[in-house]
Amino acid sequence: GADRPAADVEAEKKSGAPPFEVPEVRFTKLFINGCFVDAVSGRTFQTRDPRSGDVIASVAEGDREDVDLAVKAARDAFDHGEWPRMSGSERGRIMTRFAELVERHADELAALESLDGGKLPAVTKAVDIGNAAGSLRYFAGAADKIHGETLKMRGQFQGCTLREPLGVAGLIIPWNFPTTMFTIKVAPALAAGCTVVVKPAEQTPLSALFLADLAKQAGIPDGVINVVPGFGPTAGAAIASHMDVDTVSFTGSTEVGRLIMEASARSNLKPVSLELGGKSPLIIFDDADLDMAVELAISANFFNKGEACVAASRVYVQESVYDRFEKKLAERMRSWVVGDPLNDPRADQGPQVDKAQYERVLSYIEHGKREGATLLTGGRPCGQKGYYIQPAVFTNVKEDMVIAKEEIFGPVMCLMKFKTVEEAIARANATRYGLGAGVVTRDMEVASRVVRSVRAGLVWVNCYFALSNDCPFGGRGMSGFGGDEGMQALDKYLAVKCVVAPLRGSPWM
Ligand code: NAD
Repeated sequence: GADRPAADVEAEKKSGAPPFEVPEVRFTKLFINGCFVDAVSGRTFQTRDPRSGDVIASVAEGDREDVDLAVKAARDAFDHGEWPRMSGSERGRIMTRFAELVERHADELAALESLDGGKLPAVTKAVDIGNAAGSLRYFAGAADKIHGETLKMRGQFQGCTLREPLGVAGLIIPWNFPTTMFTIKVAPALAAGCTVVVKPAEQTPLSALFLADLAKQAGIPDGVINVVPGFGPTAGAAIASHMDVDTVSFTGSTEVGRLIMEASARSNLKPVSLELGGKSPLIIFDDADLDMAVELAISANFFNKGEACVAASRVYVQESVYDRFEKKLAERMRSWVVGDPLNDPRADQGPQVDKAQYERVLSYIEHGKREGATLLTGGRPCGQKGYYIQPAVFTNVKEDMVIAKEEIFGPVMCLMKFKTVEEAIARANATRYGLGAGVVTRDMEVASRVVRSVRAGLVWVNCYFALSNDCPFGGRGMSGFGGDEGMQALDKYLAVKCVVAPLRGSPWM
């Protein structure tokens, strides 16, 4: 159906219901030059289970010195190792093996993500694993199709372009889709022939270390992938400002995106690409199938606990169907279950990733109430322990309220009314962000007008979140630039070299 990811998640839930076993945590050290090692400082940090707040494991805490070691390993592997020098098809063959291993370990990875980040195993399996393996395969297939062009030069010269791997790529990733984020950045970098240093988010370091081990099993040479868990201002900042890192690809908040650019400007002017936050609009016209529109609005907001950068947190409904929509939405939310992802087979939504996000989301909800918006449903903490929140739907929302302007990154929907297409477009564009957008209508002229007028990197018509590895994923404005996925992502890891030589003896000019 139109609601693809939600349908996939439902199918996945049916095929394997909880309770799932709590997985053993096997990897907690830094992964540098093919080995799991302690941090130079010997320090560790604790990663917690958001279902309870209990400590899951102590993880080696990488800092500047560890980043130096990881960059050195990546540099050596790039300057002297086989990876950038082997044929593209050989790199592709190894990446395909990595994809197979990811699929083979889907259950373990899914349980690990639930434990570390509170995600539903069905979401990890239906979305993250598919994306991860898909991305490795997609770029494995591209690895032997990277080539430059022949130039038609003026005068007695001939020219061509070469596309060479850029070098060492620093990949700084967030906690909301840890497995997907790891692979959608690693896969094009590897296909291009780069070597990488990955910094997973401090909230969810476990899957990245697990994936590093699978990469080694797949035959990716030592030093090609290095993983340094740690905190942003220390390990992350060390990558962004490193003189020997040739490019940084970052996904996370707009504020940190700015710091990454500043660090590049102050160090070696490495190119950066930023996939940042959003406040994406979903516009529902009065001719829409309202039941479908309700399902889309729900999954566009509450899928993955609302922890999605493209979440459609501003829902605009045309005036003439607004009341009916609101009633249907409130009814439908009564059957939405917030519960333990590993133990409750009915759960639609697990806990927020950590205490800080949980408190941040609740404080936005309080702020919304103080600003005068009305809670139609939810908006309260729930569960005996852990970071669970009943998803909130706000009505009577004004454009200038904080909840309508700022990215909340949690299960909070703002429901608003509009009259005309012009008004909907103007309000959709009244944001500095420009990541996703959705339009629900049967009128293809209206859809086309919205699609072409809305300032966003991804627009969905009568669906939301439907994606695949060939869809370029990225934003405009303060949502960043230089997205992931699709063949364009390869360009982030390649440098173009122009070669010119005299042309002699050609029968043509
Ligand atoms: P963040 O931007 O702070 O963290 C993302 C990554 O950047 C993490 O690995 C973090 O350790 C690292 N980082 C933090 N400070 C850094 C620095 N100074 N230098 C280099 N790296 C640094 O995001 P967050 O605090 O986890 O979440 C806050 C907000 O970020 C969310 O509420 C949401 O708005 C946004 N976010 C967006 C996405 C997305 O997919 N676009 C994903 C997660 C979070």
